Amino acid sequence: MIAEVIVDISSSDVDKVYDYIAPEGVCPGHRVMVPFGRQRLEGIVLRLKETPDTHHALKAIERILDPEPIILPEFLALAEFMRKKNLRYIDCFRLFMPARLRGGEIKELKRNFIYVTEGLDIETELGRLSVRATAQRALLKELSAGAVRESELIERYSSQAIKALSEKGLIYKKAVRSFRTPGGMNMAAEKPQPTPSQRQVIEAVENGEGVFLLHGVTGSGKTEVYMSVIESALRNGKTAVMLVPEISLTPQMLGLFRARFGDGVAILHSGLSDGERSDEWTRLRSGEAQVALGARSAIFAPLRNIGVIIVDEEHDSSYISDSNPRYFTSEVAEFRAKFNGAKLILGSATPSVESYHKAVKGEYKLLEMPERVGVARLPVLETVDMREEIKSGNTGMFSARLIREVKAALADGNQAMLFLNRRGYASFLRCRKCGYVPKCPDCDVSLTYHKEDNTLRCHYCGAKFKSIDVCPLCGYDDLKEGKTGTEKLEEETKRLFPEARVLRMDNDTTRRRDAYVDILTKFRRREADILVGTQMIAKGHDFKDVTLVGIIDADIALYYSDYRSAERTFQLITQVAGRAGRSEKEGKVVMQTYSPNHYVYKYAKSYDYKGFFRNEIRARELTKYPPFTKIIRLLSLSENENEARHAARSMAEEIVAIKRGESRVLRVQVMQSAIKRIRACYRYQVVVWIDSAGEEEICPALYELGRKYSRGGVSVFAEVNPQQML
Ligand code: ADP
Ligand code: ZN
Repeated sequence: MIAEVIVDISSSDVDKVYDYIAPEGVCPGHRVMVPFGRQRLEGIVLRLKETPDTHHALKAIERILDPEPIILPEFLALAEFMRKKNLRYIDCFRLFMPARLRGGEIKELKRNFIYVTEGLDIETELGRLSVRATAQRALLKELSAGAVRESELIERYSSQAIKALSEKGLIYKKAVRSFRTPGGMNMAAEKPQPTPSQRQVIEAVENGEGVFLLHGVTGSGKTEVYMSVIESALRNGKTAVMLVPEISLTPQMLGLFRARFGDGVAILHSGLSDGERSDEWTRLRSGEAQVALGARSAIFAPLRNIGVIIVDEEHDSSYISDSNPRYFTSEVAEFRAKFNGAKLILGSATPSVESYHKAVKGEYKLLEMPERVGVARLPVLETVDMREEIKSGNTGMFSARLIREVKAALADGNQAMLFLNRRGYASFLRCRKCGYVPKCPDCDVSLTYHKEDNTLRCHYCGAKFKSIDVCPLCGYDDLKEGKTGTEKLEEETKRLFPEARVLRMDNDTTRRRDAYVDILTKFRRREADILVGTQMIAKGHDFKDVTLVGIIDADIALYYSDYRSAERTFQLITQVAGRAGRSEKEGKVVMQTYSPNHYVYKYAKSYDYKGFFRNEIRARELTKYPPFTKIIRLLSLSENENEARHAARSMAEEIVAIKRGESRVLRVQVMQSAIKRIRACYRYQVVVWIDSAGEEEICPALYELGRKYSRGGVSVFAEVNPQQML
């Protein structure tokens, strides 16, 4: 037998399959050790076949690494699917296995526990111990109540005490299988009676099949629906995958699932240590856990016989990986749902225009929960025209209206959240005389001023510079801050409401692993009155005492040069507004804008998703944007500007040639990218519009083209429907 093997070469760009002579017992999906040049490397067996494709002498697989194939047949098929989307085999397999497993063995995890010797009479033994052996006495007493981890005992007692007791034969050590299960908040396991609309949705899912789009307003009780559907999958002997955006994986969410599903739930997210991740993965792989709860990457949970896959907040951009390997979680979810015959539920208060369009066309089944649970109502949304504020002499960040509302909320003993989707102190510095703006020398974007350490930082490459007081061009010494960020907002908030306790949550305050959980917990415990933050505070959180949400600058996302800017603005406003008034207390949202007449605000104000969708889908159809087309960007990068430009132009010429014979290629454009340079690399791009129906045929040809031009000093990256056109 010959085995086709994907070899785990870290640095190589090749995606080659190598033939090896297969020993007895090798199956597709097995991890194997193979000789490769002068090295020995790990690989995955893809397929078996009778005859090799080459006449060269073949080497043999040296060793099978695991008793059972580690890659399930479903994942071998998934790898083939993802390859058509421009991923390499090895990238796929790296996504399918936790890092800890690669290059190692799947070890059963054992820990040492200390037990009291069976049949011992504790009182008698305590009587025999010397009075001065306090540690030994305490230790024996504690252990008589049950076994304890050795490492934990060593921290609290001395290792001599443990040694002394075991030499006397009173205690012994035993290795026991155990997992490092990451914890959550303790929550009550009680299950509420579903509301009529929850019941209706649950029944529709139980009796239906395929893909469901659950459009439920914020606070309509979607989580309860998800848990109920998962319970019924488990009752039928099946398993379940529940995906949430990274930021919604709060201890509250974990606690809720723990309370309902106990050890049957395994957690996968980026905050886990390698050890924790591989434990949770192993529990899913062995069937010990049947529910995978996690962020994006949990879609690769090694579960068999999946009954339901749920993608909460399906519109969230965190479901599209922004770094390589780049994949669309929804595509993987659809693949796995089909393969397993599972139901797929996409849930959101603001579905993506693409998904809702599919529901309208009947590809997805639309389910709706238009009202909040119980007495809670959606908060009233008020717009403030900031141009009027400036006319009346108020050039601050807060309108008079917002100041009044914050004061009122505080006076009533409630909490407020202030949202500004820009971190740092000010977006940039600007010379008021000559207009000079300091830019990153490598990235050609304006640097962001950070007041805490008086630096200018590049938010793309992370470069950091000492700030300046004098304009280097004209020598003028009044450098004025441009637009303001969360750091400035925090400062202003403290100044305007000196009696209030203020917390800030953004990328800068949450660098530490548990920081964001700490901030949220403090706010929940009412150790602060106002929470200031970026989109991090917008999603999922359920704070009962928040009655006011202030949106400092609603327009920020609106003027990005991106076809999704209106959609993003609508989603963000709805999500942020959704944090207010989630219980009996009525909520209010004050939304500050410089363009109050934009259509997106009209619909956002009345929570009119359908109206917004109708308007938006018409515009997309007219301008030929997704979902009516696919946009493929080939980004050409090089430290040599000419080479980057030349590669882009040549690719564009080849595509134009394809276009002549192919009506599904609609448009081709070549240009310098919006950001001309990042990390010293010049950026040029070819943007290709293709008819949606042409994806399967045209995209592989474009990927191939990108690979062809990726050589020498040029790298080409291909992206479908890029999240950002920067
Ligand atoms: P969504 O995810 O749709 O924004 P949540 O699932 O967070 O909404 O639910 C909002 C609130 O309603 C939560 O506090 C939740 O505990 C509560 N809730 C959900 N379903 C019920 C129910 N059937 N009865 C009572 N309270 C419920
Ligand atoms: Zn930079």
